[in-house]
Amino acid sequence: MIDLHTHSVFSDGELIPSEMIRRMAELGNEGLAITDHADFTNLSWIMQNLRNLMDLRDDYEIDVVFGVEITHVPPNLIGRAVELAWKEGAEIVVVHGETIVEPVKEGTNFAAVQEEIDILAHPGLIDVETAEMAKENGIYLEISARKGHCLTNGHVARISREVGCELVVNTDAHSPEDFIDTEMAVRILKGAGVYDIERVLMNSRKILRKRLKR
Ligand SMILES: [Zn+2]
Ligand SMILES: [Zn+2]
Repeated sequence: MIDLHTHSVFSDGELIPSEMIRRMAELGNEGLAITDHADFTNLSWIMQNLRNLMDLRDDYEIDVVFGVEITHVPPNLIGRAVELAWKEGAEIVVVHGETIVEPVKEGTNFAAVQEEIDILAHPGLIDVETAEMAKENGIYLEISARKGHCLTNGHVARISREVGCELVVNTDAHSPEDFIDTEMAVRILKGAGVYDIERVLMNSRKILRKRLKR
């Protein structure tokens, strides 16, 4: 699988990027995005650190892209944070959506899908209007392997089927034991009620390819 939502020590993850990449490779996976939690205070610093690996990535075993997950930024400031992320050299931008297990500000999902982002992470009980906007803007909704966030996977799968918007499956890994292989990714998608599993796995490949070229 390709995991496009993970955290390193540059936010609240436990591992440095090199160990994350090694562990993903060891599981037989194809690629990884490191997307640390960011707001206006730390975004530049995260990218400054992650950028150090960009020129060296060819010596790693699997494809890696570097970016951020814009997290708990007020909805009316999400656009500015996304702009800052691209300006600071992010290769992928994820927004921390309205998971039901955290007090994410209402309106975050809707604000996020107006912007130039790749993935709306753990979008919780996302509504049809927001999912339609995501589809229109080419933004992928996330099926999450993470405890808590995964509680609404079934709803996200159903909405995506209704609206026709695209899905990805990510771990949101913070710790070594959070990484999964393709077999587990497939099980999680099946558990969410996703029919076209190959398509979802291919979506992550598409995003990775597009962003590696950036
Ligand atoms: Zn998140
Ligand atoms: Zn996350």
